[in-house]
Amino acid sequence: MRIAVIGAGVAGLTTAKVLLQAGHDVAVFDKAPDVGGVWSATRRYPGVTTQSSKAQYSLSDFPMPKDYPEWPNGKQVQEYFAAYATEYGVDRVLRLNTEVTSARRGVDGRWTVATTVGTEVFDRLVVANGVFCEPLVPAYPGVEEFTAAGGKLLAGTDFHDAEEARDKHVLVVGYGKSACDVTVPVSEVAASTDVIARQLLWKVPRKIAGVVNFKMLLLTRMGEALFRYLRLRGVEKFLHGPGNGLRRSMLNSVGSVSVRQYGLKKLDLVPSGHMEDIVKGAIGLATEGFFEGVEAGRITVRRDRTITRLFARDGKPFAELSDGAELPADLVVCATGFTQGVPFLADDVRRKLFDESGNFMLYRQILPLGVPGLYFNGYNSSFFSPLNAEMAAVWIAADIAGSVSLPDHDSMRRAVVDQLAFMDTATDRHHCRGTKIIPFSMHNVDEVLGDLDLDIKARVRASHWLNPIDPAAYRGVTPALLARLAAAEPAPTAQVVRLSPVVEESERNVAG
Ligand SMILES: Cc1cc2nc3c(=O)[nH]c(=O)nc-3n(C[C@H](O)[C@H](O)[C@H](O)COP(=O)(O)OP(=O)(O)OC[C@H]3O[C@@H](n4cnc5c(N)ncnc54)[C@H](O)[C@@H]3O)c2cc1C
Repeated sequence: MRIAVIGAGVAGLTTAKVLLQAGHDVAVFDKAPDVGGVWSATRRYPGVTTQSSKAQYSLSDFPMPKDYPEWPNGKQVQEYFAAYATEYGVDRVLRLNTEVTSARRGVDGRWTVATTVGTEVFDRLVVANGVFCEPLVPAYPGVEEFTAAGGKLLAGTDFHDAEEARDKHVLVVGYGKSACDVTVPVSEVAASTDVIARQLLWKVPRKIAGVVNFKMLLLTRMGEALFRYLRLRGVEKFLHGPGNGLRRSMLNSVGSVSVRQYGLKKLDLVPSGHMEDIVKGAIGLATEGFFEGVEAGRITVRRDRTITRLFARDGKPFAELSDGAELPADLVVCATGFTQGVPFLADDVRRKLFDESGNFMLYRQILPLGVPGLYFNGYNSSFFSPLNAEMAAVWIAADIAGSVSLPDHDSMRRAVVDQLAFMDTATDRHHCRGTKIIPFSMHNVDEVLGDLDLDIKARVRASHWLNPIDPAAYRGVTPALLARLAAAEPAPTAQVVRLSPVVEESERNVAG
């Protein structure tokens, strides 16, 4: 089939790779000039690194280079994804610098995709346009006056060089990982650096108590099980029943360690609530050098405050805060989140996509209900986003081949509604319109593979209860699915497909 993929971030790349391997004719469109999505040179800000450690942020059949640090920086991650695209021939089907402006489903069920370059028709459409790709910058009153006085207001993703902050008064808005990441390099060159934090969040140290890598606690199946999921299985029944006290103390003890480790009481930066609440915000890994910068006086955190307006005084740009404080502000960098949207889809399709709260209604985070031929990938942002995207790609390939036995429409709808209602409660609605599945990353992998009757060996899965999830353990899943599809149909001839050299070995690791 001819399949269009919108987006060349990790979700688009892995979708294209699996679909090429399944013998389809694929085109990947991206408006950026390079692959990698959020890691593109056009989007990354100084100081950006992964939150997940490198093994956990890897694709199953393409390990990160050995010389990469434990938390690779943005340039390294972009180069890693570009190398993946080359390794699997996805680079040959890329259409970079090409924005999709509309994608319409015709009466024949085919998709007409219009881009800034031309129009083409496809049999299937995969939307992988990223849920943390379009920044959301608050509309502050007074921005014209502020800009006329030389002030600059921009999104973190449009701030690429810390030198832009040299000798300036800089305000960073937000307290998530991006805000803290960008603050550290800024604070090394700026005249002053203030962080405007509407709400403090719990931060997990990369090395808990300076010793234990956080992945040992949170990037394991045990770590995921510390948070109550919609349906409880096995050990989870114990942890959320008789073992509840133990579970809570395990989780909240990380909070106490973080308070001690960073001297948060002295800095007046202890967040309200408990560490357990990390699930309600963006998971925050502490940025190296952030609290140290606060202690050294290079960084001032204005907690529980927002910017109420921007203005000019004596021809100089200023910002007013909600407590009435007025700060000089040559540069305001907003790390205030992202918008999720699909502006290129027609209204009738969009109406089917959203519930009344504006959440994406996607079965398994992949399949919209009642829009044949359309799939989503990357709408499963997790602690292991590449792995979740890759498993979704396998699901898509299987469904296109008619090899997923789906429940009827009403059952799927009920499942989506239940899942969204659960996530509303579990995350206090912090699930980015149904697109973020943290902290239930592996539940999603299990459900997706469950539909395909594929999984890794129980013994290997069990090892992930106490050891960090190893995406490489899943490297046999795609070959297993491809073998199944090949057995059902004549071998594909449309593309020359290179399988990973580890295929034979990895196939032995897959059950089902
Ligand atoms: C700073 C940052 C750090 C992160 N760290 C982690 C981490 O440590 N661990 C983790 O698991 N996740 C992390 N994430 C989540 C991250 O979003 C995913 O890991 C992953 O990179 C998302 O990939 P994606 O392909 O879904 O989307 P994106 O990477 O956003 O790619 C989407 C692509 O679609 C393109 N596009 C959009 N609209 C159009 C259009 N109309 N036409 C053509 N092209 C279009 C965009 O240009 C973009 O290149 C992080 C996110 C951010 C922002």
